[in-house]
Amino acid sequence: MELSSEFLNMILDSVTEHIVVIDKAGNIRFANRSWTAFGKNNDCDINDSWDGVNYIEVCDAAAKMGDDFGLKAGDGIRRVIAKEDAIFYFEYPCHSPQEKRWFMMRVTPFEVNQESFFVISHQNITERKLAEESVKNLANLDGLTSIANRRVFDEFLHEEWRRCYRLSQPISLAIIDLDNFKVLNDKFGHQFGDKCLIDVAKVLAAVANRPGDICARYGGEEFALVCGDTTLEQIKLIADRLLLQVTALNDLDPNLSSGNYLTASIGIAEMRPETGKCESELISRADAMLYKAKENGRNRIEG
Ligand code: GH3
Ligand code: MG
Ligand code: MG
Repeated sequence: MELSSEFLNMILDSVTEHIVVIDKAGNIRFANRSWTAFGKNNDCDINDSWDGVNYIEVCDAAAKMGDDFGLKAGDGIRRVIAKEDAIFYFEYPCHSPQEKRWFMMRVTPFEVNQESFFVISHQNITERKLAEESVKNLANLDGLTSIANRRVFDEFLHEEWRRCYRLSQPISLAIIDLDNFKVLNDKFGHQFGDKCLIDVAKVLAAVANRPGDICARYGGEEFALVCGDTTLEQIKLIADRLLLQVTALNDLDPNLSSGNYLTASIGIAEMRPETGKCESELISRADAMLYKAKENGRNRIEG
């Protein structure tokens, strides 16, 4: 079947991938409808005609502004043009203010009458990325409280310990155990207890907000907070805030406020990682301090 160029253009315009064809110099020789529409809908500087625009220069300009996509895309296109790579394939985030989005960019070469051209396509892969993200969350987050689970905590603590070792920084740990939680469960029911655990986790997550921090559900009614580059005095301040905020949860619920049922004991410890020591010692020290807080009457911090 002989296909007219109009017919072939209609095929290219009907696909949802954003497609352009560039020549060896990077000049755009063809853009399909999805490409042009995407530019228009995303406040792109070029929204009328892409004809003659140099796409490599567009990538370079973005790279100069600190855009990681521009850097990698420009580099990938150049490698395919130079025949260093047969094709270039790359997944990147491109979030809009309204939604999370990811795209996959592909560069493939072809030749017509001994002249080289390159098809550049961008395909929306958000659905797959979101599915991957939710599988990852299922494996990493505690099912009840949606904060990190014990496994992720152990990994993070190990990495943070090593980072603090390299940088000669202190690392601090707080172990938080809810007081007489069995009594709370017995009095108000397990579901009510679950809700308290969720509320405490939210308080913790709000406190652990630096890149070197992580909070996790450590066990049943036990939580842990690790803070890199943090001294004992500093984690004491964080623990003070935490304890205050946990206590304040009582005021929000008539069951709890009838007897200030929701309190926590916190053990804190600081170490400076050095050769021959490992993070399990930090856990043992914080654990011993938690035991002391329980012995000394609960609803307190020891360290
Ligand atoms: P202490 O002050 O000495 O820590 O007393 P405690 O009652 O908190 O400690 P204990 O270890 O005797 O009991 C812990 C309780 O935490 C018992 C258990 O039912 C409850 N718990 C553990 N995990 C969960 C959970 O996921 N949901 C609820 N609702 N309760 C839980
Ligand atoms: Mg416990
Ligand atoms: Mg307890």
